[in-house]
Amino acid sequence: MLTLSRVRRTYGDTTALDGVDFTVPDDTYMSLLGASGSGKTTLLRLIAGFEEPDDGVISIDGERIDGRPSHLRDIGFVFQNFALFPHLSVFENVAFGLRHRANAPLQNEKEIKDRTDNALELVGLDGFGHRGVGAISGGQRQRVALARTLVTEPRIVLLDEPLGALDANLRSRMCDELKAIRERLKVSFLHVTGSETEALMMGDKVAVLADGRIVQTGVPDQLFAEPMNAASARHMNAWNIFDAALCAGSVGQGTIAVRFDQIDASAADRAPEGRPHLRAKYLTGEFNGPTAVFFFRAQDGSLLQIIDHLSQPRLPDMVEGDSYDLHFAPDAVRQFHGAA
Ligand code: ADP
Ligand code: MG
Repeated sequence: MLTLSRVRRTYGDTTALDGVDFTVPDDTYMSLLGASGSGKTTLLRLIAGFEEPDDGVISIDGERIDGRPSHLRDIGFVFQNFALFPHLSVFENVAFGLRHRANAPLQNEKEIKDRTDNALELVGLDGFGHRGVGAISGGQRQRVALARTLVTEPRIVLLDEPLGALDANLRSRMCDELKAIRERLKVSFLHVTGSETEALMMGDKVAVLADGRIVQTGVPDQLFAEPMNAASARHMNAWNIFDAALCAGSVGQGTIAVRFDQIDASAADRAPEGRPHLRAKYLTGEFNGPTAVFFFRAQDGSLLQIIDHLSQPRLPDMVEGDSYDLHFAPDAVRQFHGAA
């Protein structure tokens, strides 16, 4: 089990991480979701030992690892851009870590070959060892990067936006493969990403990083359906977040959220009895196959969205620029403390 407690890291005036408490259990695919600049890479670099925290403790199975040289931490790191050696073959890229590791480099060619072949097989690249890394696809390069990390048998594997450099088709295939590879290995993966779909799809558990802290950790369903604060809700990209004061009807006070697919529109002053509602101007709609997204501007300027399904349309015909009442069931509301 990897544990971070009160981990802090600043760069001059920038506080990248401001007291991170976070646990990655054994045998788990953990996603860490955060916007660009939220400190994801910094967090991984601190765990790997490429840099040190200003404060706090990082430990594995109760054993403190911060302050220890990177090569003595047994942590694998898959870099955002794969960072392969362009002049080496697939085989030599993977074998490199064994030949040149600081801690007990391997010299026995048979052992190097066996372990490298095993790692290539694990990622589905058996038979590709002799190829140059310039002569394989993006997805295959990704797998070489993974094999190069796995061959050293790390205690945990850190993946920095590992799918970011792949095109959309490949990305979803790699998602399945990463999960399958991890399940075979039984080693925990910590996968950081800015994409909520990726985080929710990949993770057995998902943590959300915002404002330098972990704001919520949970299983994907729970995080999506029950965000505990506005920051988590915002990261799910599925919730309208607004001030309860904009609403007529009883919704409590402070910041509230209603999911895009649990809010409806009616003509002004025609919201059904018993449903809280707020006035908003219809901006535009976007049609994506079976679903459509409609955008509105609330009276305080916040942007609101409704997702409608074309098989069961529930919105009236609307005119851009006209005002409507957006309404929802009282029990569809999530209420948060603090400001939106
Ligand atoms: P992410 O990976 O989530 O995009 P980073 O961890 O790269 O975020 O960066 C977090 C914050 O720390 C950003 O504001 C970034 O500009 C700052 N930062 C990261 N590394 C450095 C550095 N070496 N020097 C100065 N600022 C840095
Ligand atoms: Mg980053």
